[in-house]
Amino acid sequence: MTRKELDAFKQKLLNEKSVLLQGISPQMSGSPKTGDPEGGDVCDIASSDRERDLRLRLSERGREKLREIEDALERIEEGSFGDCEKCGAKIPKGRLKVMPFTTTCVACKSRQEKQRKLYDGASDFALSRDLGVSEMSKEEEE
Ligand SMILES: [Zn+2]
Repeated sequence: MTRKELDAFKQKLLNEKSVLLQGISPQMSGSPKTGDPEGGDVCDIASSDRERDLRLRLSERGREKLREIEDALERIEEGSFGDCEKCGAKIPKGRLKVMPFTTTCVACKSRQEKQRKLYDGASDFALSRDLGVSEMSKEEEE
């Protein structure tokens, strides 16, 4: 992937990030309404502080998405963006254009989903059986 293409993905991700952050806090995107406890200081706050504040207001789902976007941005910096984290194959650009924050190729993704479905199907049974049994947590500690 060329630097230019990476920059385009980066731009897209940054854009999604700001949409995500501003979407949950429209009152901070420039309207000079009174009643804001911060008053006129809002504009002076460093963007990282503002971002942290916005982040706190995100729903769990929004935070999850934000994490995916930031992970993708990190991978762009590291140079591993576009590689499948499971098998190391190159993720097709078409897929990345639709979901720039994806971390797996289509094959691995569908395998992952199949596994999750199997797990979900079994979890009801497993839960009723294993609830309160300490063996499960023992396994996780290893
Ligand atoms: Zn893969």
